[in-house]
Amino acid sequence: MLLQSRLSAIAKDSVSTPTSPPAASPVVPNIFFRLRYSPFLTQMVVIRRCNLACGYCSEYDRSSDPVPVQVLEDRLRKLKELGTFGISLTGGEPTLHPDLPRLIRTCRKLRFYRTSMITNGFFLRPEMIETLNQAGLQKMQISIDGVHANETTQKVLNNLKKRLRWLRDHARFPVVISSVIGACPPEEAEEVVSFALKMGFSSRVLLVHDSHGQIKLNSQEIKTFQKIVDMLPRKWPELSSYRKRLIHDGFAPFKCRAGSRYLYVDEYGRVNWCSQTRTVWSKALMDYTRNDLREQFYSYKPCHATCTLNCARSNSYFDNWRRQPGFSS
Ligand code: SF4
Ligand code: SF4
Repeated sequence: MLLQSRLSAIAKDSVSTPTSPPAASPVVPNIFFRLRYSPFLTQMVVIRRCNLACGYCSEYDRSSDPVPVQVLEDRLRKLKELGTFGISLTGGEPTLHPDLPRLIRTCRKLRFYRTSMITNGFFLRPEMIETLNQAGLQKMQISIDGVHANETTQKVLNNLKKRLRWLRDHARFPVVISSVIGACPPEEAEEVVSFALKMGFSSRVLLVHDSHGQIKLNSQEIKTFQKIVDMLPRKWPELSSYRKRLIHDGFAPFKCRAGSRYLYVDEYGRVNWCSQTRTVWSKALMDYTRNDLREQFYSYKPCHATCTLNCARSNSYFDNWRRQPGFSS
């Protein structure tokens, strides 16, 4: 009953929630600064709570309230002032936030280059998908761990097929399915990728990581990973060559530009390098300056060589040719 009323609140959001446009247009840095230091992507936690409890996950709790929408809108304006290009709304599980459509509309009004979200997909219904269409969502990412549920994960194809078909039939935004290797028998990851491609979604393969962002796979999982890479469109393996190096050599050094090109803003409004280093370094977003972006761009991250975090890696890629004191490959 509770769930039903929350879902209908989200579905009716476009008519029941008054739209509050940004108070004043944020002053955005000039394009030269943005191209040198601004975040390509910020992942912003809108609620820490999740309806699931995946055994490998350290990014959720069972009880926290949604971050108030006005607080999140202030954070979005601040991110715009820092020159952020793309926003990804995340959690926990972001569809548990009753004001998710309003947040997406605010992102679109602020003219972020791309507004996306990450979800486990469990609450998707045709009405909710239509509401997300209307709000202007530009991309949805769903991670799926395998086919059959087990004691580690419920985030599996058998629990999600119906919702994926609804997405195929209703979504006007691109959907990316990430098949995650490490929580189910590895051959199930292949079935996830085949199903996603058959539905017309983009697909990719991720490696489950520990709470420090480090890889942990056995030899069978490694073989499956390589097989899946061959199933994916041609350009994908090139972009993910670091995963092959992690698997073969155990390390794949890179100049991590977290804190600059990639921000992870937690529910308390603190900028962290990433979800896995929340106890290592952070600073309040509302106090964050262009100098912080510049400083963090050049700041050496000691965990880089074995890091599996695709978002930080892909958003650092563009600047690989630029210096970072302390880095040696
Ligand atoms: S669904 Fe996502 S956020 Fe929730 S417990 Fe699983 S991995 Fe963590
Ligand atoms: S290298 Fe960067 S993204 Fe990876 S764990 Fe370290 S700080 Fe996080």
